[in-house]
Amino acid sequence: MGSALGAGGLDVATADKVVENVLGTYALPFALGLNVQVNGRDHLVPMVVEEPSVVAAVSNAAKMARTGGGFVAEADEPLMIAQIQVDEVPDFAAAAAAIEEHRAELLSLADGAVPALLEHGGGARDLEVRDLGDGLAVVHVIVDCRDAMGANLVNTVAEALAARIGELAGGRVGLRILTNLADRRCVRVRARVPVEALAMPDADGASVRDAIARASRFAELDAYRAATHNKGIMNGVEAVVVATGNDWRAVSAGAHAFAARSGRYGPLCIWRVAADGLLEGALEMPLALGIVGGTTRTHPGARLALEIARVETSRELAMLAGSVGMASNLAALRALATEGIQRGHMALHARSLVVPKRG
Ligand code: NAD
Repeated sequence: MGSALGAGGLDVATADKVVENVLGTYALPFALGLNVQVNGRDHLVPMVVEEPSVVAAVSNAAKMARTGGGFVAEADEPLMIAQIQVDEVPDFAAAAAAIEEHRAELLSLADGAVPALLEHGGGARDLEVRDLGDGLAVVHVIVDCRDAMGANLVNTVAEALAARIGELAGGRVGLRILTNLADRRCVRVRARVPVEALAMPDADGASVRDAIARASRFAELDAYRAATHNKGIMNGVEAVVVATGNDWRAVSAGAHAFAARSGRYGPLCIWRVAADGLLEGALEMPLALGIVGGTTRTHPGARLALEIARVETSRELAMLAGSVGMASNLAALRALATEGIQRGHMALHARSLVVPKRG
C-alpha cells in the first residue's frame, strides 16, 4: 500500500503518459471514510480531498445512519447517452420516421463500433429523436457502458452513426458527443436515522431531526441554499470520484444539470421526518463512474482506491459514492442546524495550522 501511495500514488513517468506537458505530480491527502454500510455491506471508503473535516464528517454521519440500518442504495443500469446534432432538418416528422424505420440498422452500426464493449455485455440499447426547433434535431443513442464511465465509448458510437443519421434526417451533421447529463444512470440512496443518534451536547435528537428537515425545506425552496446544500453532498461524492481516478468534472456537470432539471435548481438529497419519528433521507443523482477505462487502472493510487472500496461493478461504486454524499450532507445539516459549522470545522482546520513548516 505504501508503495502505491508513495509520490502521491503517481510517479512522474506514469503522469507523463496521462496528460501532456507534465512538470511533476501534485499530491492531495488520501484518507479513509469509516463506518459506511451500503445495502448491509461494510466499506472502507477511499477519499481524496483537500478540505479539512470532510472525512471526519462522513465517518461520523455514516455511523449515525448505521444505527438505523445503514444506507440502502440502488443504481440504474450503466446507460450513457450519445448526442448527434443534425442541423437544417427540413421536416422533423419525416426525419424521425426515417430514423425509427432504420432503428435496427443504426443499433447494429453502433454495436459494430465498440466490439470490445460487447464482449463485456454492453452495447447500444435504444435511440431517441428530439426536435429542438429551429431546424435542429438531436438523436440520442443510449449505450450500456457496463463498468466503464463510457465517455470515449459513447463518443465513438456517436461518430460512427453520424453520417448515416444525417443522411436519414436529410440534414447536416453537427456535434457528436456524449451528454454529461447522465440521467439514465442515476443512483438512489435512502437512510433512516433514529433521533438518539442525532442528539448533540446541547440539543436533543428530536429537535436536531426537526431542524434538519427544515434545512432541507430551505434548500427545496431556494436555489441559493440548494447550491451550498449540494456542495456539501459533492464534498463526499467527489472525494470518492477523485480517489478512484474518475472524471470529477463530468460528475459535477451531470449532478448540477440534474439538480436544475425541473427548471429550478434544487437539492440532490432531501430529508423528512417519517411517520415513525425517524429522520429519513433520500438522494438521487446521476453518477457516471467507471472501475475500468480512463485513468482508473493506469493510476496506481486509483487502483489501490478501487481495491480498498471493494466494489465489483461501476454500479456498486456509484452506490458507494452516493451514500458518502448523503453522509456528508447529513453531517453538514446537523452541524448547521445546531451549533453552526465553524466550531467543528475550525477545530479540524486548526490541525492544519500546527503542521510544522519546512525550510
Ligand atoms: P476508455 O476509453 O478507457 O474505454 C473503456 C475501455 O474499457 C473500453 O476499451 C472497454 O472495452 C474496456 N472494458 C474492459 N472491461 C470493461 C467492462 N467490464 N465494461 C465496460 N468496458 C470495459 O474509457 P471510457 O470510460 O469510454 O471514457 C472515460 C474517459 O473519457 C475519462 O478519462 C474521461 O475523462 C474522458 N472523457 C470525458 C468526456 C466528458 O465527460 N465530457 C469527454 C471525452 C472524454
